[in-house]
Amino acid sequence: MLRLEDNVYNRRCRQDEPKFKLWKSAGLMLSYRCPSRCACCYVFSGPDVAEPATEMTVEMALDCWTAVRRMAGASGRVHLTGGEPFLDYDRLEQIMQAAQKAGLEGLEKIETNAYWCTDAQLVRQRLSRLKKLGLTRLQISTDVYHQQFVPFERVRLAARIALDLLGPQRVQIRWRDFFANPIMVGPMKENQRNKAFLNAMAKRPERLLGRAAEKLANLFPLRTYEEFTDINCKQNLLGARHVHIDGSGNVFPGTCIGIVVGKVISDSKHTLDRLWQQFDYRQHPIMSVLIEKGPTGLINLAQQKSYQPKPGYAHKCHLCYDIRRFLYQKNAYSGYLGPAVCYGLAPSKNTPPATH
Ligand code: SF4
Ligand code: SF4
Repeated sequence: MLRLEDNVYNRRCRQDEPKFKLWKSAGLMLSYRCPSRCACCYVFSGPDVAEPATEMTVEMALDCWTAVRRMAGASGRVHLTGGEPFLDYDRLEQIMQAAQKAGLEGLEKIETNAYWCTDAQLVRQRLSRLKKLGLTRLQISTDVYHQQFVPFERVRLAARIALDLLGPQRVQIRWRDFFANPIMVGPMKENQRNKAFLNAMAKRPERLLGRAAEKLANLFPLRTYEEFTDINCKQNLLGARHVHIDGSGNVFPGTCIGIVVGKVISDSKHTLDRLWQQFDYRQHPIMSVLIEKGPTGLINLAQQKSYQPKPGYAHKCHLCYDIRRFLYQKNAYSGYLGPAVCYGLAPSKNTPPATH
């Protein structure tokens, strides 16, 4: 298990400066592919994502999982997410099998949008199998955004069988109030749907990155970028105790997807624990600015490449995303920003999602 002083920056920083916290949990993004295309998605997951390099192999998943346990000991946690992790069910099962064989604990949950729950027998079969392989908790996503694409009967079926097989402690319905009173925005006119989105966000704010920045940000009152001056991201980036990791090995701090802390590779030199030990944010051209100055600090970098600020932004993350997207498009800060699918710039197969 690592200690704070095992990190190179923590050893060198002054005693009164905030430390770079140990990553105790990781979300393993098995794929960016998803049958849906939710407005709240903080990347651009969809049925048309065609980036094979971002598919996580069983080996990579195991390496990251093992590294989290090495770093944080018994408190190390992983969750399996996407995109939609059930889209490649065989791989999901292989990861669970391999983890069980390796005696790996610490699975927090597997997430799903339940799109695949079309048949009771199939749901029972898969969940029983995963239960035997150590499924600790199933998170079923259900909200106004997800139900634009996934028929609600599938969520209901998933919940019924999961509760029966796993018991209430091991099923997380996210969100229960919506599950009890679902609202279907699919048939609504755009202005009605936007109103439903705004109501949902008044209850639970969404991080305005990726598709959410493009689809939801403009529903809010907008403020000029100057109004975000002096709001830095020290706590979000230095204090994040968790990371997300995609199939290419990109490691993102917390939920700040698209900012690459570094890359893990399935070899003994580029592991997650090594990355954490060697990471000094002052050497990272994007994170150093965000930690010291927040997203308005990125404006200077972007203006050197002719970035034109928008008339307004809904939130500091909206501002941050917009500038990062611009820099990514300009091929600036390669290796520190990406991949393309986080910025809506990935190659596409143009497959339409089903809407309901
Ligand atoms: S929010 Fe989840 S279910 Fe919706 S498009 Fe993104 S990955 Fe898919
Ligand atoms: S502004 Fe950027 S770095 Fe800060 S919390 Fe939002 S996404 Fe993360």
